Amino acid sequence: MTGRTRVGIVGAGPAGMLVAVLLQRAGIDCVVVERRDRAYVEQRARGATVEHRVVELLRRHDLAAGLLATGAVEDRIEFRMGGRRYPLAYDPVAGGRTHYIYPQQFLVRDLIDAFLAAGGDLRFETSAVAITDLGGDRPRILLEPATGAGPTELRCEVVVGSDGEYGVARRAIPRAALAIHEYQYDYAWLAVLAEAAPSSDCVINAIHESGSCVHVRRTPTVSRFYLQCPREDSRADWPDERIWKEVRIRLTLDAPWTLNEGPILSTSSVRMRSLVCAPLRYGPLFLAGDAAHIVPPVGGKGFNIALADAEELALALVERFSGASAARLDAYSDTRLARIWRAQEFVGWMMDLVNTPGLGSREAPFLHRVQRARLERIFASPAYAAAFLQDYIGWE
Ligand SMILES: Cc1cc2nc3c(=O)[nH]c(=O)nc-3n(C[C@H](O)[C@H](O)[C@H](O)COP(=O)(O)OP(=O)(O)OC[C@H]3O[C@@H](n4cnc5c(N)ncnc54)[C@H](O)[C@@H]3O)c2cc1C
Repeated sequence: MTGRTRVGIVGAGPAGMLVAVLLQRAGIDCVVVERRDRAYVEQRARGATVEHRVVELLRRHDLAAGLLATGAVEDRIEFRMGGRRYPLAYDPVAGGRTHYIYPQQFLVRDLIDAFLAAGGDLRFETSAVAITDLGGDRPRILLEPATGAGPTELRCEVVVGSDGEYGVARRAIPRAALAIHEYQYDYAWLAVLAEAAPSSDCVINAIHESGSCVHVRRTPTVSRFYLQCPREDSRADWPDERIWKEVRIRLTLDAPWTLNEGPILSTSSVRMRSLVCAPLRYGPLFLAGDAAHIVPPVGGKGFNIALADAEELALALVERFSGASAARLDAYSDTRLARIWRAQEFVGWMMDLVNTPGLGSREAPFLHRVQRARLERIFASPAYAAAFLQDYIGWE
């Protein structure tokens, strides 16, 4: 069975759903296919830190109601090292700009609600198994619905590959036509979600000789912790008591403070790698979000860059389909790659600030001292702090 649409969108994550909503509002026919069911997508806990420029993006498109109503505002960041706090307020440098904490799955839910309420075609439990005919102007997405209805296909004019790190879109591009730039860190992060009230109302990045510990609030009753650990560690290496013991050690302060602990809801090992594909276009296929680039979670940039890709791609498609011009669409890859590489540079810098590479090696104590020097420089030099805050909070 063959379906037809102008824009076929693979993946109902933040990138795919923002493209879908913006196209729908411009009256451009599109279909979203998503391999998971709705409940899964709306409950998948990942990022939560929303940059200032993404808050503005959502406001511009009248999509910020949920975030503004229930998101928490962050106006400072805290580092910890050697038992000391290093708090850094965003103002006056940031001129009132702040972060929001709004779990990514809530935003995805808001976008899905908006798309479906306006009559959008979103097919859950439908996997794209291949994207073909990319040499012409009628690409096809081959589909496999989980209901067992059998393979079917969607014929499009344009395909948006927003199917995340392990999707099919990137693989549909011939290897010779795509450069993949990748960097693998020699450690991982254990991502822990705990039913525990946040112990701080701002992100804490603890730099410790045993490895980093990052604490981010999620909701009034749920907290996220990330612990730097060896890449080969599994969950069995991290029983709950060990997780809390390490959190306590790495967040330790000489002054009294309270760590709220509670049942661990989930853990996962996050591969710490950076990846950029180029170009972000192959004929009528455009990549957006994690399908095109990955950053490690430090600094909370992944889902912000995905949303910025999505806005640029959607607006470029609107210009092209309204007959105005294809220039913006033709420039999409270059426009976004410049921003993506800047984010990669920042995240790489912050990775080396927060995590000690080669833990246990001869070099580790030296690198740990370099971390201290970098941290102290943020607090010694207003110009250095301002440059950090601009990238971290996210404004032009
Ligand atoms: C543990 C963790 C913590 C993170 N923390 C942060 C953070 O604090 N801040 C931040 O900004 N970022 C964070 N990130 C990164 C962020 O979650 C991603 O960058 C973001 O989800 C990218 O959005 P996306 O829409 O590109 O891809 P995704 O969110 O991965 O969405 C892709 C969608 O495509 C679907 N799909 C995949 N294959 C197919 C197929 N073949 N057919 C149909 N559908 C398919 C998937 O089911 C998924 O719904 C974190 C990531 C992880 C794993």
